[in-house]
Amino acid sequence: MELSNHWRVKQQRYSLMGEVCPHCDSKIFPPRDICPDCGEDARTLHAFSGKGEVYSYTTLYDAPSGHEQQAPYMVALVRLDEGPLVTAQLTDVDEDSLAIGMPVEMVTRKLRSSGERGVLVYGYKFRPRLQTA
Ligand SMILES: [Zn+2]
Repeated sequence: MELSNHWRVKQQRYSLMGEVCPHCDSKIFPPRDICPDCGEDARTLHAFSGKGEVYSYTTLYDAPSGHEQQAPYMVALVRLDEGPLVTAQLTDVDEDSLAIGMPVEMVTRKLRSSGERGVLVYGYKFRPRLQTA
């Protein structure tokens, strides 16, 4: 059980795909095919570690359509270890323990089901990084 769980977490960490600029080695997320630093073509895929730290955060009390049952929820600006800032929902964290600089890691979560066919929408969220002693 424990082994498969660790494996699953490891797989998730490698699913944050962005790009790396072949000209200046800048890491790009989300992928945009143009390097924001030097303006050159950047289409080389790069797997991010999915690790970062909380740069800033806010609590949302009015959830957008489809997220009502999750409100209130916390959204953070996360600075990835590779440099880019991403905005993502936080999970498995309570407001009191949340702090600027908290180490976090990406997890893949079901965001919502939509439509008659119940299409599941998956996306990434961030949770406090598990301490490995
Ligand atoms: Zn570049």
